[in-house]
Amino acid sequence: MRDDAVGLCLTCRWARTITNRRGSTFFRCGRADTDPRFARYPALPMLTCIGYEEGRPGDPTGSGEKGEVV
Ligand code: SF4
Repeated sequence: MRDDAVGLCLTCRWARTITNRRGSTFFRCGRADTDPRFARYPALPMLTCIGYEEGRPGDPTGSGEKGEVV
């Protein structure tokens, strides 16, 4: 998936990536677990988001390299 097809979720620490057996990657929003304002699977590309926090996706500390998706 191209970076510009993902938008903010690509560099948001709340993003969780899920890859299926066919190799397709989906972005799940970790904020959706506790806040109903967020969609569990946000429509991409995410261009603006009130919950965005820069960090490594899936990293609860918010640290890590920008843009790295694991
Ligand atoms: S908080 Fe917003 S930018 Fe971050 S993962 Fe959820 S939908 Fe994407």
